[in-house]
Amino acid sequence: MRRPLIAGNWKMHLTRQEAVVLAQQIAQRSGDTTTADLAICPPSVYLDAVGAVIRGTDVGLGAQNMYFEPNGAFTGEISGSMLVDLQCRYVILGHSERRHILGETDEDVNRKTAVALELGLVPIVCVGETLAEREAGKTAAVVSGQCAGSLAGLSAEQMQQVVIAYEPVWAIGTGKVATPEQAEAVHADLRRLLETRYNAAVAETVRILYGGSVKPDNAAALLSQKNIDGALVGGAALKADSFFGIVAGVGDA
Ligand code: PEP
Repeated sequence: MRRPLIAGNWKMHLTRQEAVVLAQQIAQRSGDTTTADLAICPPSVYLDAVGAVIRGTDVGLGAQNMYFEPNGAFTGEISGSMLVDLQCRYVILGHSERRHILGETDEDVNRKTAVALELGLVPIVCVGETLAEREAGKTAAVVSGQCAGSLAGLSAEQMQQVVIAYEPVWAIGTGKVATPEQAEAVHADLRRLLETRYNAAVAETVRILYGGSVKPDNAAALLSQKNIDGALVGGAALKADSFFGIVAGVGDA
């Protein structure tokens, strides 16, 4: 049985003070949540302050990115071991904003994923098609290609530690959410791919989150799908009420 994960991606939002207050609100309410794992991924400069607030609670700390080199002359980058030092549990890798705005490739994501796993971090590896790719009927090919590239070379044991996030680019921050059926079809494809590339046990274990305009009013329908194991949430994760409105969508499953 896969335990759902609801992860908030705060992107490049909030002041330090706002981040701390939001973390306090989430920490306070997290004790009521027994049916899902919770994570928050603040901007890296707030990881330390937010981490101090949620320490000792069940809310996991996540980063939004990391670099694959362990240290060195890489101005502006942050290593995985630095994230471990800050007691991060998760790291989002290959978010579409990093792929499409900052030019990150599957190969970059793959190197980062391997390093994150070596360090004991849980990588949340994002994949998803653009609107043009969906309209051209290329969704399955794009998503499976991104998975093959981003997750290349991982052992079955490593793969079981990875969380995949299916995030159609056209649904991120746009208010256009995939229908539960559209999302479920891709999630089921991804699970079949895991079974083919690895085995049934891996396919049954890996959590596949949906991301893209998840809100309290559409969360339950998405999260009730057989192969949707949680959500990666952007905009609606910036307020405790809407974040927990989404968590409530997990129900008592
Ligand atoms: C995201 O940041 O991964 C995301 C899905 O954003 P939003 O929920 O705002 O669409």
